Amino acid sequence: MANVDSEDANAPIWDLLRGRTPCLWTNPEGHGLEAGDDPLAAAVLAAEARLARAAPLMRRLFPDLSPDIGFDDSPLLDAEAFYAAPEVPRLGRGRFLVKADHALPLAGSIKARGGFHEVLAFAEKLAARHGLVAEEGDLIALASPAAKALFSRHTISVGSTGNLGLGIGVMASALGFRAVVHMSSDAKSWKKQRLRDRGVTVIEHAGDYAQAVDQGRQDAAGDAHAHFVDDERSLDLFVGYAAAARQLQTQLAAAEIAVDIDHPLLTYIPCGVGGAPGGIAYGLKRLFGDSVFCFFGEPVAAPCMLTQMAAGDARTSVYDLGLDNRTEADGLAVAQASMLVAPLMRHRLAGIYTATDEQLFALTWRAHQRLALDIEPSAAMAFAGPLSLASSPNGPRFLADTGLQDKLDRAVHVAWTTGGSLVPAVERGKFLERGAVASADLEWA
Ligand SMILES: *Cc1c(COP(=O)(O)O)cnc(C)c1O
Repeated sequence: MANVDSEDANAPIWDLLRGRTPCLWTNPEGHGLEAGDDPLAAAVLAAEARLARAAPLMRRLFPDLSPDIGFDDSPLLDAEAFYAAPEVPRLGRGRFLVKADHALPLAGSIKARGGFHEVLAFAEKLAARHGLVAEEGDLIALASPAAKALFSRHTISVGSTGNLGLGIGVMASALGFRAVVHMSSDAKSWKKQRLRDRGVTVIEHAGDYAQAVDQGRQDAAGDAHAHFVDDERSLDLFVGYAAAARQLQTQLAAAEIAVDIDHPLLTYIPCGVGGAPGGIAYGLKRLFGDSVFCFFGEPVAAPCMLTQMAAGDARTSVYDLGLDNRTEADGLAVAQASMLVAPLMRHRLAGIYTATDEQLFALTWRAHQRLALDIEPSAAMAFAGPLSLASSPNGPRFLADTGLQDKLDRAVHVAWTTGGSLVPAVERGKFLERGAVASADLEWA
């Protein structure tokens, strides 16, 4: 990697990354956000409004949706039992919560947020061009026979390691679009089967996620009736994720949990290409400013956002570090970060930690044992955040430099569990078996 030299302040980090050693990188520029620096404000507000306008449509399309919960709602749960155990390092006496996106209805993962938003935005634009919906109106007309006939002449396609395909496939086929999902080699076979069962065309690729995306992008480029959901570049995905921040703010307020400069909020979100965690971090910074500290988690085999953030502007990949991008955390198996997202994180992201697959299995098991949560290993990455901050050599320095050390006992920690409620029982059994073994010699020092 040409841009890495011995003068680089990140030099120690490169060695840890190459050696696949779990580590914490803290962002030296993570506190430089200027007031009013919010270039996507209008787009985020429009996404929040669109998702709200979609509620009646979603009830029409998915009559089995529970009446108690919105299609894009997930619970905010207590996680004290997870971190109270004596064998894990404890990060102060603050509050520990889980934002349970693994339980999002229909898609079973955080992809419901960005993915559903993008499909809805595309469908609305297309229908508006044909005079089928009023501007800023209720979206129920998107379920009309006329809209369905229109959508059936169009294809929505996407490249995915699995969960984004599930989200897009479910939403696109419910509206009557033809749906095509390009899957990378690491996609789990149950995710492919589930899509095929819904009439979605699944195209399997021998290569990694970036190659699946690239193939999908090229296929769609030649087709005027095709819309490609571009996970590496899409603003509609990004702002759909960002809308989640408002929901968390509302839930914290309803629970009378204060967040302000003396009661900091720390969030821990698993990161693949960066769209989901980046969008949420963007949204949280809009609402909470200097009172929120956003951390991402990545597998030691695929720390693409960490590599990109530490490298600066030059495009990098984890392959440049000799890493192989092979991880059981399929939702995070991405070698190159989104170049839409990385620059937006420069002054918004507090830091990124990494974890091994064995740690993720152990955390999956613990979430099941202690909190009765059914999550997938990718989502378990969220729980590693406070452990990494408490036990990495960089942790105490970051806490001291930011003034967080003195506020930890009043802090609110949110582990964002990003997927897993649709995992079939047999697969889940395998995760837990492996996790129980890994848990016995789990180490965080
Ligand atoms: C997709 C995904 C992520 C990360 O989202 P990106 O937008 O790829 O960064 C995290 N966890 C799970 C379970 C996912 O499916």
